[in-house]
Amino acid sequence: MAGMNKQVLLASRPQGWVKESDFNIVDTPMPVTKQGEILIKNLFLSLDPYMRGRMNDAKSYSAPVPIGGVMGGEAVGEVVESKNPAFKPGDTVTAYTGWQQYGVSDGTRVRKVDPKLVPPSAYLGVVGMPGVTAWVGLLDIGQPKAGETVVVAAASGAVGGVVGQLAKMKGARAIGIAGGKAKCDYVVKELGFDACVDHRMPDFYDQLSAVTPKGIDVYFENVGGPILDAVLRRVNAFARIPLCGLISQYNATEPYGVKNISSLLVNRVTLRGFIVSDHLDRWPTALAELGTAVARGKIKYREHVTQGLENAPKAFIGLLKGENFGKQVVKLT
Ligand code: NDP
Repeated sequence: MAGMNKQVLLASRPQGWVKESDFNIVDTPMPVTKQGEILIKNLFLSLDPYMRGRMNDAKSYSAPVPIGGVMGGEAVGEVVESKNPAFKPGDTVTAYTGWQQYGVSDGTRVRKVDPKLVPPSAYLGVVGMPGVTAWVGLLDIGQPKAGETVVVAAASGAVGGVVGQLAKMKGARAIGIAGGKAKCDYVVKELGFDACVDHRMPDFYDQLSAVTPKGIDVYFENVGGPILDAVLRRVNAFARIPLCGLISQYNATEPYGVKNISSLLVNRVTLRGFIVSDHLDRWPTALAELGTAVARGKIKYREHVTQGLENAPKAFIGLLKGENFGKQVVKLT
């Protein structure tokens, strides 16, 4: 196919906070497909907190992006050329094609999706990796029971919003923690959580105590830092903590030292870190349940849509600062 392909490359490894100068935006010739490959025109790019880790050259569960390489990430798009019998032009798919307008794939980790069931961008969020993360972390690891209290931070976001709604479906009380009144109002009024506390308030701990009078049975950890310390003062005996993310630490040059760690011992808490890609056997069930629930309006979601690939670096920096309100995606067309 003729034409040019806009890409966002990693220009330098950030020290502390990510800067726009850590990225390089280039126009390159359109990629050429070989036998067995497909060419995908991306419609929406997903921006996710894990991408911050890929910018570092540090030991992790997955390899870093090389300097000069295309930033990695998942996108939803349309197959425009196919030399692979499993796909045909016009198919809507998700694939890890990265921060670029067009991507080539041999079909590995490419998921055909139905744009009539839910809008294409939802396959990057609530019916995609973040939704499955919430499902696996809460249901398999957190195991909430009816009447228990479940707390989740970053509650208006891609993962947190689903966690609270799943907790409600299990008959638990769902308490959100979010940054600012608008996000807290949304979490309670739109998503149906029982309460939400603004972590920016100076009396945050007192407010958290007031909405968790019977303590906390499951804490779905997305942020770490002082919020984790506050929650550790409220956990019940035999509480479960699925450790999903620590976004408050991703740009920190000095790691936060958790003070209330003795609570884990005293309360015999189970804390388990997990990475959603280790649970591939659970994805089909999770995606089927989430897709049905979203299509029926039983699970709601919100997206923060940025226009244009050239604005992806700025949007990504905003995501790490809490400027997004809902699942952060970039509309490419
Ligand atoms: P979100 O859509 O929730 O966006 C990130 C949010 O994090 C921000 O909007 C902000 O919400 C909050 N945040 C940012 N900085 C801070 C801070 N210093 N203190 C408190 N909150 C902060 O992102 P996702 O739902 O995509 O991801 C949520 C978490 O889940 C992340 O930690 C991510 O790394 C993790 N994750 C882990 C996976 C796994 O396999 N283990 C898979 C997917 C995600 P607010 O303004 O409300 O504070």
